[in-house]
Amino acid sequence: MSIATTNPATGRTVRTYEPFSPEQTDAAIDRSHLAYRNLRDTTVAQRAAWLDRAADLLDVERDEAARMATAEMGKTYAAARAEVTKCASACRFYARKAPEFLADEPADAASVGATRAFVRYQPIGPVLAVMPWNFPFWQVLRFAAPALMAGNTGLLKHASNVPQTALYLADLFRRAGFPEGAFGALLVGSDAVESILSDPRVRAATLTGSERAGRAIAQIAGRELKKTVLELGGSDPFVVMPSADLDRAAEVATVARCQNNGQSCIAAKRFIVHTDVFDAFAERFAARMSALRVGDPMEDSTEVGPLASEGGRAEIIDQVRDAVDLGATILCGGQRPERDGWYYPPTVVTDLTPEMRMWTEEVFGPVAGLYRVSSYDEAIEVANGTAFGLGANAWTRDQREQEWFAIDLEAGNVFVNGMTTSFPELPFGGVKNSGYGRELSALGMREFCNTKTVWVG
Ligand code: NDP
Repeated sequence: MSIATTNPATGRTVRTYEPFSPEQTDAAIDRSHLAYRNLRDTTVAQRAAWLDRAADLLDVERDEAARMATAEMGKTYAAARAEVTKCASACRFYARKAPEFLADEPADAASVGATRAFVRYQPIGPVLAVMPWNFPFWQVLRFAAPALMAGNTGLLKHASNVPQTALYLADLFRRAGFPEGAFGALLVGSDAVESILSDPRVRAATLTGSERAGRAIAQIAGRELKKTVLELGGSDPFVVMPSADLDRAAEVATVARCQNNGQSCIAAKRFIVHTDVFDAFAERFAARMSALRVGDPMEDSTEVGPLASEGGRAEIIDQVRDAVDLGATILCGGQRPERDGWYYPPTVVTDLTPEMRMWTEEVFGPVAGLYRVSSYDEAIEVANGTAFGLGANAWTRDQREQEWFAIDLEAGNVFVNGMTTSFPELPFGGVKNSGYGRELSALGMREFCNTKTVWVG
């Protein structure tokens, strides 16, 4: 895959980039390694000041940065602006909370025969960040802000279709005051990842992306004995029980499925509805999905833009065709529009069966699978009947059911009467084939720290 900006709204490539040579990559790793030696000795207050400055720059440059993301991967301009704003607030969150998250934690010295004992959190060195295009700012920032605050340096290998965003982010941290090389962008394809991660100067890796890429990175990191955090795909359930507020559930379901043009790991993808309310929910949901305005992502009125790549759209078309061929029913959408750009309409598919691809695969576009169940137990069976375990949503006003869902859903995040969202304040990550490790909150910062026990006799 070439490293290039190709506008998904037109299908036209507007800029291509020469990938880094092995020598350029080596020099970038070296800069990161040297910057780490410098950064780890700076104070938390100093790093917080730089991160606050990065937040200020993001606020000032929000519209320009958002236009870049829209042009590279097709998300709506409104969504891109909101993403940049969210990044600025995550920077401020970590600048404010780092003193608390990184403070020494005293232990009961007497009980371990010491005069003093405590836990100290220290940085570990350059971390490779392999990132996807779907939230091209947020995925990077949610790693970079805590990592830089902890005193680590970052080497970004961004997705090959968002090179301008990658270069912008590296430049952002430099302009904010971080030492040269503290956060660098590597313009390389995925074939260069193995040698970068095998380099002894690189101490760990974080990947947000597909299960396939996760397995590749985990294999290399396993061989090299390096820590990894993997945020992989999801096929999140959205369960609707009889006591749910159906109007609200249908409204949120539409946003949860079509946010980011349907290309979000934590998008609700499988809508599992109790038979008592199935028809009422299906009618409301399909009506809302078909009313969404699809169009030019730069237009204020657009709610769903194009998919990020032609290949991504072809995959969606195949998944829907496979379901229909095997007997599924389309309630709305399902027809590829005749126009330039990689558009696909919001679509609801029902009468799904286990032999269909949509039953087991992640659908990375605005296509909802609608499932009918007749009991709580069956809802849980269908919800958990996937290899993924990222987020899960349950809609019910029954407090006992709310408790049960929180226990029984196999997911890293459970949202009751809401849709899955990430917050700097809360840990984020998955179970099963959705990966391991956590981002955000204090846990996310400490994933790439040496949790050092200090015992003084
Ligand atoms: P990919 O896994 O193809 O790409 C993600 C990143 O990994 C890119 O930088 C890509 O580089 C790189 N990459 C791809 N293959 C390899 C490999 N074999 N070795 C090393 N690096 C590799 O993901 P998609 O573009 O398909 O993105 C969508 C996927 O990401 C979905 O499954 C989605 O659910 C998941 N995702 C998960 C999130 C989470 O937080 N859990 C959030 C967002 C997305 P290149 O572009 O050069 O190929």
